Amino acid sequence: MIKKIVLRDDEMPRQWYNVAPDLPNGLLPPLDPETKQPMGPEKLSAVFPMGLLEQEMSGDRFIDIPEEVLEALAIWRPSPLVRATNLEKALNTKAKIFFKNEGVSPVGSHKPNSAVAQAYYNKREGVKRLATETGAGQWGSALALATNMFGMECKVYMVRVSYDQKPYRKSIMQTYGAGIVASPSNETNTGRAILEKMPDTPGSLGIAISEALEDAATRDDTKYALGSVLNHVILHQSIIGLEAKKQMEIAGEYPDVIIGCCGGGSNFAGLATPFVPDFLDGKKIRFIGTEPASCPSLTGGKLAYDFGDVAQTTPLLYMYTLGHDFIPPGIHAGGLRYHGMSPILSAMVRDNIVEPLKVQQLECFEAGVLFAKTEGIVAAPETCHAIRGAIIEATKDLNDPKTILFNFSGHGLIDMGSYDKFYAGELQDYDYPAEQIAESIANLPKI
Ligand SMILES: *Cc1c(COP(=O)(O)O)cnc(C)c1O
Repeated sequence: MIKKIVLRDDEMPRQWYNVAPDLPNGLLPPLDPETKQPMGPEKLSAVFPMGLLEQEMSGDRFIDIPEEVLEALAIWRPSPLVRATNLEKALNTKAKIFFKNEGVSPVGSHKPNSAVAQAYYNKREGVKRLATETGAGQWGSALALATNMFGMECKVYMVRVSYDQKPYRKSIMQTYGAGIVASPSNETNTGRAILEKMPDTPGSLGIAISEALEDAATRDDTKYALGSVLNHVILHQSIIGLEAKKQMEIAGEYPDVIIGCCGGGSNFAGLATPFVPDFLDGKKIRFIGTEPASCPSLTGGKLAYDFGDVAQTTPLLYMYTLGHDFIPPGIHAGGLRYHGMSPILSAMVRDNIVEPLKVQQLECFEAGVLFAKTEGIVAAPETCHAIRGAIIEATKDLNDPKTILFNFSGHGLIDMGSYDKFYAGELQDYDYPAEQIAESIANLPKI
C-alpha cells in the first residue's frame, strides 16, 4: 500500500500556474479607495514592487519561478503527499484520503511559499526592508524567514493580544532577526492616535495592517507584504497543487474531491487551482472550501467591493466579505478570522466551481485529535477545519467511496494553547448571528 509520495528536487515545478485567465467570468479590478475608480499599478507601486504587481494583474497562465526562489523553496520542497491510511481505517471507510503536508516548512505552514517569492521580487528592485502585520504570528514568522534568506530587514506589527499570548512565534521571528513590535505601537501615527484613545486595547489585524502600510508608505527603503488574499499570493501557492497533481499521478490516482480550509483563501486556492483546467474540461471534481461558522465569509457574507482593513485605507477588493468592521468573536480559537476572502477564491465560489462548507470549532478540534492519533501529526487549528471537511466527505456515502485530497496547511506545535482550551472545555460552537452580519454588511462602501 502506498503511504507517502515524495518528488525528487529536480521534479519541483519550475513555473507557477495563474488561474485568473481561466476563470469563466473573470475578475473585477481593485478600486482606488478615494476615487472608486479601477486602480492601476502606478499608485500601488508605493507599497508593492512592480514584479509582484505584474503578477497581480497578469493574464499569463504560467509564470517562471526564478532560480533564486527555487533554491530557497528547495530547503523544504517538494513537500510530501501522504495517504492517511490509518485515518481511513479508524473511520472504517473505503474512501482514499490523501493529504499534502505543508507543515514541513521551516515555520510549519504553507506561508513561506509566498514569503520567499515576495522577498525575492522586493530585493530585486532594491527594497531593503519589508513591513507587515501578523495576527497569530504565522505570516510574520514566514516573512522573517524569507527576508533573512535574502539579506533584508523585516518589521512585523503583531496584534497586541497575540504578542502577549504567543511568545514563541515572537521568539521565532527574533531568531531570524526581524524587528517585532506590539500593535498598536508608538512608532506610527495610526498607532499613537489609537493608544492615546485606548491605551489598553488588545489591537486587531485591521489596526496592524494600517500601521504596516503607513510604515511602508513613509519610508523610501521599505515596502509592504501581505500573506494571503491577493492574486500574486495565490499564484505563489499554486506550487502546492502543481506538486500534488504530479504526486497523485505517481500514485495512480486522481482526486474526486479537493478540500482546504479558508482564511484569506491562499492555501486552499494554491492546492485547488492547478486542477481547475481539468474541471473546466469536464472532469468531475468537487472543490470544497471549509470555513468556521463563527467567521463565515463565503457562506454568510456578500460578494461586493470592500476594504481589506478597518481603517479603510486599502484598495477596494471584489470579494465575499462580512464587512470590514466585522469583529470575529473572541471565543473562536482556530484562526481563519479574516472578514474577507481572496477575489480569486470568491470568483470560484460565484462561478460554482468551489462549494463552501461551514464547520463548528469543536468538531474541528475533535477531527484534529483523531488525525494526530492516527497519522501522528498535530494539526494547526486552521488545518483542523480541512481535516474535518475530509472526514465529512469520507464518511458521507460509504457505498460510493471517493478519492479525497486535502491540504494539510500546517502543524500546530506552536499553537498548543488552543488545544489546551479545547481539553479544558473552554471552547464552544458558535454561529455568528445573521442580524449582526447584516449590520456590518450595511456599512459596505457604496459603489
Ligand atoms: C494562515 C494560515 C491559514 C489560513 O490562510 P489562507 O490564506 O486561507 O491559507 C491556514 N492554515 C495555516 C496553517 C495558516 O498558517
